[in-house]
Amino acid sequence: MTHTPRHGAQPTGGEPPALEARALTKHFPIRRGWGMRTALVHAVEDVSLRLYGGTVTAVVGESGSGKSTLARMLARLIEPTSGQVLLGGAPAPHGGREYSSAVQLVLQDPFASLNPIHGLRYILGRPLKIHGTAQDSSADEAIKDLLRRVALTPAEQFIEKMPHELSGGQRQRVAIARALAVQPHVLLADEPVSMLDVSIRLGVLNLLADLRDREQLAILYVTHDIASARYLADTIAVMYAGRVVEAGPAVQLTDHPQHPYTQLLLSAAPDPDRAEAPSLAGAGSPPSLVNPPSGCRFHPRCPFAMPRCAEQLPPAFEVGPGQTSACWLHETSATVSANTVSPDTVEERTTSSATPETNAPEDQ
Ligand code: ADP
Ligand code: MG
Repeated sequence: MTHTPRHGAQPTGGEPPALEARALTKHFPIRRGWGMRTALVHAVEDVSLRLYGGTVTAVVGESGSGKSTLARMLARLIEPTSGQVLLGGAPAPHGGREYSSAVQLVLQDPFASLNPIHGLRYILGRPLKIHGTAQDSSADEAIKDLLRRVALTPAEQFIEKMPHELSGGQRQRVAIARALAVQPHVLLADEPVSMLDVSIRLGVLNLLADLRDREQLAILYVTHDIASARYLADTIAVMYAGRVVEAGPAVQLTDHPQHPYTQLLLSAAPDPDRAEAPSLAGAGSPPSLVNPPSGCRFHPRCPFAMPRCAEQLPPAFEVGPGQTSACWLHETSATVSANTVSPDTVEERTTSSATPETNAPEDQ
């Protein structure tokens, strides 16, 4: 059985993912003391995921969990320590124009990402020209078309504007339009709404949903907000301290979280029925990535930790259709999965007979 994305197309059997991470790992060397390379930051560890056209995959985790490092490896801005990036099923080139015309990164801060001295005609015209998407004579039309695709209308007016005349949400739309100018297959959006006013976040999320559905883009949505991931994404991967701890179809995963960390994240997510959101800080904080905890990196914070959790790294156990959880609590009832975040991984494995509820930690 295959997870059907909530929106748009589902991955077809033979089609390779638009972009794939295979066991991506990044260790940053850092200098401690007198210029000596004595330590490594274990920022991302063995992360695999697949992005398909017409789907949104969310990577969710607290600050410092390695989300941006993962996105930057996928954008080919930094080299992985190990692991592979595959573009359309083939090893991805090391950056350059060929790669950036297929994979575009949109960053968090729309104030920093647009040069204030240039108007929108220049900001959007430049990538069109560089990538040869539009000829000089048709440039204005192509720019207006981009503006319309991100709902900045009337485009005739927006094309004349400067960044300072725009709101944060409008600037983020310009940043997205600039990414679209090169006609990418993949959009990597690193916390695209977290610096925006709450009131305009939904509009930008809906724009991303629209681009997925209308233009069949493969979108990576990086966020610390699991509620927005549930709203937008088809598939969610939850990261903790550099590792994916749980992954699966967005609604199923958030309705039936299996990993204790996902349960903690959801219990801390804003809930309209609760007067005040409990803070995650009260439940401890993420560990140092210079000396990450042994075994399961979550064990020092985990209410269900057992002795083996400090010693052995749990593999990804299948805990529901297409849903995996890297937690020893699931060992008895689940099969070990291929450990790749994607809507179709379930085809590669034996489906567990356990329903998500029967092996929830509360029941153990
Ligand atoms: P997130 O986006 O989830 O907040 P990041 O990927 O930015 O997490 O960071 C993960 C870890 O890697 C953090 O501990 C951060 O300090 C570290 N890190 C990120 N970039 C570098 C770098 N260039 N050099 C050293 N450490 C880094
Ligand atoms: Mg980040």
